[in-house]
Amino acid sequence: MLYADVIVDISHEAIDRTFQYQIPEDLKGQIEIGSQVNIPFGRGNSVRTGYVIGLSDKTEYDTSKIKSILSVCTEGVAVESRLLSLALWIKEHYGSTMINAIQTVMPVRKTVKADVTRYVALKTDDIDGCEYRYLKKNAKAKLRLIRALAKEKIIPMSRVTGELGVSYQTIHSMEDEGTVLVTEDSRYRDVTPENVKCTGDNGSDVQLSEEQQSIVDEFVNDCDEGVRRTYLLHGVTGSGKTEVYVRCIQKVIQQHKQAIVLIPEIALTYQTIRYFVRYFGDRVTFVNSRLSSGEKYDQFERARKGDVDVVIGPRSALFTPFENLGLIIMDEEHEGSYKSDNPPKYHAREVAIERACREGASVILGSATPSMESYKRALSGEFRLWTMKKRAEDRPLARTSIVDLREELRRGNRSIISDELSYDIADRLGKGEQVMLFINKRGYNSFVSCRSCGEAVKCPHCDVAMTRHAAGDKNGILMCHYCGYSMAEPSSCPACGSRLIGGYGVGTEKVEQEIHRLFPEARTLRMDRDTTSKKNSHQHIVEKFGRGEADILIGTQMIVKGHDFANVTLVGILLADLTLFNGDYRSGERTFDLLTQAAGRAGRGNIPGKVIIQTYKPDNYVIKAAAAQDYEMFYETEAAYRSFMRYPPEWNMMVIMAVGAEEEQLANIMDRMYSLIREKYMQTGHLSVIGPSEPAISRIKDMYRRVLYIKHQDYMVLVKIRDCIEQWFKESGEAGVSVFFDFNPMNMY
Ligand code: ADP
Ligand code: ZN
Ligand code: ZN
Repeated sequence: MLYADVIVDISHEAIDRTFQYQIPEDLKGQIEIGSQVNIPFGRGNSVRTGYVIGLSDKTEYDTSKIKSILSVCTEGVAVESRLLSLALWIKEHYGSTMINAIQTVMPVRKTVKADVTRYVALKTDDIDGCEYRYLKKNAKAKLRLIRALAKEKIIPMSRVTGELGVSYQTIHSMEDEGTVLVTEDSRYRDVTPENVKCTGDNGSDVQLSEEQQSIVDEFVNDCDEGVRRTYLLHGVTGSGKTEVYVRCIQKVIQQHKQAIVLIPEIALTYQTIRYFVRYFGDRVTFVNSRLSSGEKYDQFERARKGDVDVVIGPRSALFTPFENLGLIIMDEEHEGSYKSDNPPKYHAREVAIERACREGASVILGSATPSMESYKRALSGEFRLWTMKKRAEDRPLARTSIVDLREELRRGNRSIISDELSYDIADRLGKGEQVMLFINKRGYNSFVSCRSCGEAVKCPHCDVAMTRHAAGDKNGILMCHYCGYSMAEPSSCPACGSRLIGGYGVGTEKVEQEIHRLFPEARTLRMDRDTTSKKNSHQHIVEKFGRGEADILIGTQMIVKGHDFANVTLVGILLADLTLFNGDYRSGERTFDLLTQAAGRAGRGNIPGKVIIQTYKPDNYVIKAAAAQDYEMFYETEAAYRSFMRYPPEWNMMVIMAVGAEEEQLANIMDRMYSLIREKYMQTGHLSVIGPSEPAISRIKDMYRRVLYIKHQDYMVLVKIRDCIEQWFKESGEAGVSVFFDFNPMNMY
């Protein structure tokens, strides 16, 4: 081949295309699709790196003007062609520059030097003669080393120069004399904690439950018959989903294939690691954001070379370069952290399914509260639905009780701790059992609701809670972030006329004070952003509580996920409504998930647990379904709401965000965009265009932000609209404004 198409490693929309370069004679044969190369770029011909994404023998350009590739990057990792084509798919599907998409599929882009350990080994056979000569010359250091080597034969360099006190010079001189030998051993950086290490054969004594067994049987059967598909494992908290994952992975390994296990970063705890190591020993490894680049590089190298069968990690582990991928597991598949915050704003679930499909692998999505998206696809038959309704070893699910805070208020209790909760806390303190109190601070003071009837003030057009723009204690402005509708904050409830209306919110500190007032003898721990800002402080609090050094753990949503404390028998959710009215169409789903997870924390040991949900909206379907632990009931109502309001997954939604320093210019661009979309796509039907409006944070670092919401049933129409907008924007020549796209967003803007 004579020419290479290169994507330059600069993230800028204006150069988001390939550039053709000549392949010089001396590099022929070294350059392949995926190679990382050094190239001259721009007017000054400064040296840049780039990725080769195509090769050809022909060119449309004037051959005398085509520049040449300078060299192949020696430190760069090449993109594998499979991952390169996945990057192309990501770019098309979510919208980003090609270089951003390539960077996404390559979590590790630079080779890191191997971790080398040097040793000093015994070379001579004549130890006695050696000793005699060194004794005679009074060479004390040499004598020390030869005597130590006589016993151990080989000693790490660090010990020779350290403990034994032998200098490098002396070692060199001994090398010259032919008595010792310096050797090197390079090894992978090990990331498995020392205290979970074991051989990987002591897990298989667990007897599967009936539910688990029939699922594993079906998977094994599918593997034997070569059936590849996506499964949705819907199992209540504590039903033993991890055990199912492990058995399915075993089957895949038997077929000489490998598996990737995705879990939210926050759930990658010591317990999880231990669970997998018990089964897979040193054939499993881990990646997470805290690893050094050398550690990360080594784990991907081990996977590439087939030294491990299983890699566990958050979103980016999806791009592990396994040779023969057989299975991708995604635990807690409903988690928002699977969606990338930066362009390309890809969802790991969709990319996992795409990668699996390309490489002949299966996907297992697991959750106690599946995402609306996945459950819909499971009901339609696109995914195979597996259900586990029982907890392992027939442990009971926690009992749930709803406390109506309006009722509490009528009785004159203005405390955040209801009478029932207070009664139960006293009971648990008396028995030496532990309590978790959970307050979701997100949405703090940001919505307005009525303490008499429980209604939140909602947007008349979008059916989401209006967001309060606070003005101190005075009444502020309420705004809808979907459509921009705004109104003055009312001083009485629009629904019932009560004057007990306002923004409310409580922090963990306030709750702790209240607990100390009610139970002076109780030992408390607090876990929120303030108490966990230091490294490892999160872990310390968890361990302290686990050792029983406190009776009550008070925390934000971080205490809900992934921690098992056998002695916790009571979980209190202080204000379930805080997540319910987040000004976001996913509020209901998120609240249902949090309440279910919280309920999953109660009664993990042998004592059955209880959950108390405090709310001003006891009749809300989310609260009711969560209390009944009835996912199907939640799903049906929620799906109807989404469909009626044209939200995902019933419809698809694309957010177009424009950012710029000039407010007027921005408004003008948004208006033109709005008209353009309506003019070109309105006739396709099933389209709604909402906005332009201000996002919750309408200005960051003096850059204004505006959004447009486009909804359509067909995802591909949204992709077309994006392409059209991108094209139009490029041609418009507007400077100083950037445009971003987000498909089916997880969070409000
Ligand atoms: P989930 O992820 O579904 O919430 P886990 O995988 O954490 O549940 O399992 C809950 C507990 O049940 C774990 O301690 C696990 O070891 C245990 N467990 C799972 N399957 C079995 C089984 N078949 N028999 C006994 N204990 C089991
Ligand atoms: Zn009211
Ligand atoms: Zn609205």
